[in-house]
Amino acid sequence: MNDHGSSLPQIGQWQGPDDLQRLQEKQLSQTVTWAARSPFYGRRLGSGVQPATAAELAGLPLTTKQDLRDNYPFGMLAVGKERLATYHESSGTAGAPTPSYYTAEDWIDLAERFARKWIGMSAADIFLVRTPYALLLTGHLAHAAGRLRGATVVPGDNRSLAMPYARVVRVMHDLGVTLTWSVPTECLLWAAAAGAAGHRPDADFPALRALFVGGEPLTDARRRRISGLWGVPVIEEYGSTETGSLAGECQNGRLHLWADRALFEVYDPQTGAVSSEGDGQLVVTPLFREAMPLLRYNIEDNVSVSYDDCPCGWNLPTVRVLGRSAFGYRVGAATVTQHRLEELVFALPSAYDVLFWRAKAEPTSLRIEMEVPPEHRAAAQAELTASVRAAFGVDSEVTGLAPGTLVSHQALTSMPDVVKPRSLFGPEEDWSKAILYY
Ligand code: AMP
Ligand code: MG
Ligand code: ZN
Repeated sequence: MNDHGSSLPQIGQWQGPDDLQRLQEKQLSQTVTWAARSPFYGRRLGSGVQPATAAELAGLPLTTKQDLRDNYPFGMLAVGKERLATYHESSGTAGAPTPSYYTAEDWIDLAERFARKWIGMSAADIFLVRTPYALLLTGHLAHAAGRLRGATVVPGDNRSLAMPYARVVRVMHDLGVTLTWSVPTECLLWAAAAGAAGHRPDADFPALRALFVGGEPLTDARRRRISGLWGVPVIEEYGSTETGSLAGECQNGRLHLWADRALFEVYDPQTGAVSSEGDGQLVVTPLFREAMPLLRYNIEDNVSVSYDDCPCGWNLPTVRVLGRSAFGYRVGAATVTQHRLEELVFALPSAYDVLFWRAKAEPTSLRIEMEVPPEHRAAAQAELTASVRAAFGVDSEVTGLAPGTLVSHQALTSMPDVVKPRSLFGPEEDWSKAILYY
């Protein structure tokens, strides 16, 4: 047991890579035993000697997303169904659902991993959870972590009609929200919505301590802009519905893998080679989950893992999540990626107030549109055209749009009625809203 009453590993309990590996391998036999109870791994592991070290584990085939889909819904279930606490599916847009499920004990590991924030989470915090709750893990994960640390959780689901942006701003302002959890893009939308409500993000939310973000790639330039807008640190998180939180940021701004709670490998799909560090796809073996064990799960994110020392003293490997950041479109002789383009857009002076933009890769030129107030339009257009040429060597057609064109003023300010079902109306009332509950 430790300070938090948990029996799971806690930061500070290991001193270096060897110590960390001992900690992982101490748990691995249990992990494999749990896995063998599921129909899927029962078949895969057979009746031979079970892997007990990281090296032996590496002899097993990778588990793929397709394996998860093929075994929908409960082919990977390793406990009695009555022990399940929650069932989830990932946001994967392509085809069949990717299920994942957890016991109440699994939830302690999940919540503790998310709660590892260098800035701390405590009973003094008011924590706005602004990621989806429906089917996904993310909203429930942050919610559970907040509850675990005694924070007041405000469940502000970003996919619910009940929580338009105007309401987010009202809640953040009036309640004195201290911490938030969302995709980085949300933080820009709140800033615009705060402005539309007559607030200054960096001055009128004095209780705010930090913005927790994850779920999408974030360039340094956009992170700095978000941090500057709100005047607080942006603290990044990396994870998925199938695994929970896999990495979190230390005070030195590096993303560390939770390698005391999961075993990580890096897989090179070109050569099939696997190693503990370097560039490739991240392969995860969560060590403390019973309901749906995963052995060597290829999360298919391109990452770069390193065991270089970090002054934070956590003694955990660092990861850079490249995701699809290498994916680009051809424009002339150049390959344009969203990642590099985002760097350029958010490298514009913050005074220009450019938050929302889009681009289209055409055969010989890049078309870029961005919202920018009229007084900065000419300068922003000229500077972005020049930086695109310098970075990619291609021509671009950059158009400054009036604020409200890409993200409507109404989306930032409206307060739609969310009504209960109703069938009886008075003579003067509009009964077209009857039973309008969807
Ligand atoms: P989901 O499958 O909906 O649970 O979303 C998880 C996926 O979001 C991950 O596999 C990554 O591709 C992506 N993701 C999550 N956090 C980050 C991050 N901090 N940076 C880049 N991509 C991320
Ligand atoms: Mg996914
Ligand atoms: Zn560190």
